[in-house]
Amino acid sequence: GLIYYNGEYINDNIAISPDDRGYQFGDGIYEVVRVYEGRLFTAEAHFERLLRSASEIQIELASTVDDYIAICERLIAENRVQDGLIYVQVTRGIAKRNHIFPESTEPVTLIYSYDSARPVQGMEEGVKVITLEDIRWLRCDIKSLNLLGNVLAKQQAHIADAVEAVQVRDGIVTEGASSNVFIIKDGTLYTHPANHLILNGITRKVIKRCAEELNIPFVEQAFTPDALYDADEVIISSTSLEVTPVTQIDDQVMAIGPLTRKLQQAFKEKIYPAS
Ligand code: PLP
Repeated sequence: GLIYYNGEYINDNIAISPDDRGYQFGDGIYEVVRVYEGRLFTAEAHFERLLRSASEIQIELASTVDDYIAICERLIAENRVQDGLIYVQVTRGIAKRNHIFPESTEPVTLIYSYDSARPVQGMEEGVKVITLEDIRWLRCDIKSLNLLGNVLAKQQAHIADAVEAVQVRDGIVTEGASSNVFIIKDGTLYTHPANHLILNGITRKVIKRCAEELNIPFVEQAFTPDALYDADEVIISSTSLEVTPVTQIDDQVMAIGPLTRKLQQAFKEKIYPAS
């Protein structure tokens, strides 16, 4: 399919420089944006977060939110994407290997689309997660290309036949390797506050709005692994997972509850507003 690379639209094969700092240092940022029925979902929020991530690591972007959306729309049209995902990454640029920022280099932007169906089975039946120690750095609010901690956690989950690794730092549940984590207890929805220890998920924001509309109290308060095991309902969320119920945490089986189903329905109405 058509790929956007550094100002050009190219079919399939692009050449990546061995001196790209994204390749050498993971020195860059990314986003994953949803496409439903050929339309972008919450794209403004994703590109605003991209601009924030860039600014936090001092990458100066020349493009605006609207520029990125225009590129995505062209890729969706030309690649005839219906249900899919768009991957966007920006690296600091190309320069001879040196940790120090290069004096003059332009950021390198890569954007491509791929088909991806909604995760209906996991949403319907629930998924297994494991808990493990959060060994990542202390700026998890930046959607950085450096994903080694997340990759190691996810691999451990995979080996345990789990879909996600729920990470625990200093006795507190932070987030999944690629998702946010919520518990429901006595009718209240809890999730970790959006600080430097988690990525402030766009799906998390949509869930917050759904909860408000459903009059489900939404409390941004960290909780312990014990509270996770003791919860009435547990959910993980992300752009690709949407609102996915957790039916097993380590060795403990969990039920899918009524508020999870209500949130899923409200989320679906955000995806298909007319229906
Ligand atoms: N937390 C982490 C570490 C992630 O990688 C992701 C997304 O992949 C999320 C949370 C969920 O974010 P979003 O809902 O914006 O996809």
